[in-house]
Amino acid sequence: MSVIQLSKVSKRFGGQEVLSALSLSVRQGEFFTILGPSGCGKTTVLRLIAGFEQPDEGHIKLEQTEISKTRAEFRPVNTVFQSYALFPHMNVFENVAFGLKMAKVPKAEIRGRVEEALAMVQLKDFSDRRPDQLSGGQKQRVAIARAVVNKPKVLLLDECLSALDYKLRRQMQIELKQLQRQLGITFIYVTHDQEEALSMSDRVLVMHKGSVQQIGTPREIYEAPSNLFVAQFIGEINVFEGLVEAELPDYSYRVRLAHGGVREVRSDFRFAQGEAVHILLRPEDLRIHYPRTGESPPGFQGKVIERNYTGKTLDSLIQLESGQQLRASEFFDENDPDFDYRINESVWVDWVHGWEHVIPQRPTEHA
Ligand code: ATP
Repeated sequence: MSVIQLSKVSKRFGGQEVLSALSLSVRQGEFFTILGPSGCGKTTVLRLIAGFEQPDEGHIKLEQTEISKTRAEFRPVNTVFQSYALFPHMNVFENVAFGLKMAKVPKAEIRGRVEEALAMVQLKDFSDRRPDQLSGGQKQRVAIARAVVNKPKVLLLDECLSALDYKLRRQMQIELKQLQRQLGITFIYVTHDQEEALSMSDRVLVMHKGSVQQIGTPREIYEAPSNLFVAQFIGEINVFEGLVEAELPDYSYRVRLAHGGVREVRSDFRFAQGEAVHILLRPEDLRIHYPRTGESPPGFQGKVIERNYTGKTLDSLIQLESGQQLRASEFFDENDPDFDYRINESVWVDWVHGWEHVIPQRPTEHA
C-alpha cells in the first residue's frame, strides 16, 4: 500500500522549473531513497512532502488523502536535516522531549518515550549532555531520536549522514537501516551517494534535472538501468555501440558492433531492425584473456594501460585498438596465471554471453 504519492508534481522557483510533472509512490514501511546529482531537485521533493513548499501543479497524497494544502505542522511527517538543527540550550533529553511537550503529552509518558527513543539510538546515558558536548555522530542520533519519538508515519532524511566521516557514516548507515526495520516507519532518504543508496534502500528513485529517470530495487537500478544516465550515474559502466541486424528467438538480437564484429545479445527492450543500441557492461562483467601461445582468444584486442590492486580486486584500464577505454574489475586470485599480465601488455577483452544489458539509444520512458 502506498503511504506517499506524488502525481505529476511540478515546482518552479523564479520562473525556473525544478520539478517537471514528477510522479512517485512510496510504499508503507519501505526505505525509499531519492538519488541524483547536486541540484536535480531531491531536497525540493522532500520539502514538498514535508509541507515546507507548495507544488505549482500536481497532487501530493498521504494514505489517499490530499495534503498539498495541509500545513507542515499538521502532517504526520518529520524531517532529519544534515545540520542536526538541535536546540543548543537544551540537553539531549529536552531536545528529544520537545515535540511531545508541544503536543501536550502527559509528563509521565514523555519520560518513557524519550528514554525508549534514546535507547534505540544508543544514547541512554547521554540525557544530560548539551549538544556542544556531543560528537557529530551523537548529535545526528539525537536528531533522529527527536524525529521518531512522536511516531510519524513518514520520516524524511535529507543527506543526514554526509557531515560524518567515512567510518562513522558506514556505521550510521547500518544503524539507520536497523532502526527503520525496528520502527516499521517509512523512511524517505535523500543522498547523492550511490553506494549509500544501493546498500540501504528497498527501492531507489534516480532523478536528473527535475524528473524521474528510474524507480527500482537497488539490483534493478544497478543491473538493469533504464537509460545511459542511470547506468553512468550508478557506478562504473562500459558502453559499446551497435546496430541491430536481426531479431532472433528468445528476446535475442544479432548486433553489429561499432568496433567491428557481430554479437548475439539478449534484452528486455524491443528493438527494430537497424536500431542503434548501447550494450552496457559493468567492470566486473568483463573478462580479460591473456594470449598464450597457440591460442586465439575471443573478444576485442587491447592494451593494459593501468592496473590497480584494491585488495579484493584487480582493476584494469584497457585501451582498445579503436581508442576506447574499458574498465575491468577481477577478483584477485594469486594462483591464476592470467593475473600475470602487465602494463602495456596485449590482452583480449570479452564478456559472458547474457551478462550484457542492452538499451536503445533513443530516449526511453522511465521504468
Ligand atoms: P543538492 O544535492 O545540492 O542538495 P538537490 O538535488 O537537493 O541538490 P534542490 O535543493 O532540490 O536540489 O534544488 C533544485 C534546484 O532548485 C536548484 O537549481 C536550486 O538552486 C533551486 N532551488 C531550490 N530551492 C530554491 C529556492 N527557495 N529559490 C530558488 N531556487 C531554489
